[in-house]
Amino acid sequence: MASKTLPLLTILTLDLLFIIPSLLYCPTSSLSHDHKNSSSSPFEFLEHLKGSHKGDHIQGILDLKLFLEKFGYLSYGNDKNHIHADDDDFDDVLESAVKDYQHYFHLRTTGTLDGKTVSKMTKPRCGVSDHIGVHKIDYSKKDHIHEVSHYSFFSSKQKWPPSKYHLTYAFAPGTLSEAMTPIAQAFQTWAASTHFKFRRHRDYKKADIKISFEQGDHGDGSSFDGTGGILAHAYAPTYGKLHYDADEPWSIGALEGYYDLETVALHEIGHLLGLAHSSEEDAIMYPYISSGVTKLDLHHDDIHGIRALYKSH
Ligand code: ZN
Ligand code: CA
Repeated sequence: MASKTLPLLTILTLDLLFIIPSLLYCPTSSLSHDHKNSSSSPFEFLEHLKGSHKGDHIQGILDLKLFLEKFGYLSYGNDKNHIHADDDDFDDVLESAVKDYQHYFHLRTTGTLDGKTVSKMTKPRCGVSDHIGVHKIDYSKKDHIHEVSHYSFFSSKQKWPPSKYHLTYAFAPGTLSEAMTPIAQAFQTWAASTHFKFRRHRDYKKADIKISFEQGDHGDGSSFDGTGGILAHAYAPTYGKLHYDADEPWSIGALEGYYDLETVALHEIGHLLGLAHSSEEDAIMYPYISSGVTKLDLHHDDIHGIRALYKSH
């Protein structure tokens, strides 16, 4: 009897898994269900570089350079002919960039691509750079002054003018209606702690903020990368665009292996309002976003940041 019951239960369970996405009941429903077993990540190449350090010449180091460049830790300056800008040499500039990354994420600043550093780097994250208009840290100084605030702004402190404190947002045609409610809730969370008000606009073209799910190269010069890696990105004021990577497993609420839409919306709305990343792990503006959890409250670091940016409003 038992041997016959087991397959039946298995079939029922599988059926339920497929029914859940269409029912979309809160708080643990998924908007997609075919990604869960996918283990490859666009950042997985870093695993093969584990242990590398200054002086090494290993195939793939160039990808590490591009990774650190994308997120704001590495710059060979305007000199395109820099001797190591496009090769696999782990040079001084790269070591300094790795240290900068380690410092930002409160890891030991070894300058070596150690296990903990690789483990951090391979986690899914926001696509916006961590160092936009933030001064590089000088490692020749031994004593760093402890930073009380961790928030940051975009390079020119871009922000909405006072005439735009009541903002409208709209979803691209074809957006699943189930995805709209949690994103609308995220706008309300920001409205509750700032001077901003948000209203949904029916006309996508006329809205101040445009929200869409995009795949791969979607025409803004910042291509998405399939499942894993970059989850979403958004632009500084007043461009007003928030893009979710449509290839990610999205959920409404905390669901193992899935990313919560509202949690990611809270983070990306921070960018839309003018906040860049924060190295405070509990802040909404922290660049890494875990699957299977929700983070639905603004941290005081986020609130201090947004108030500092608009303090004279
Ligand atoms: Zn971000
Ligand atoms: Ca991705």
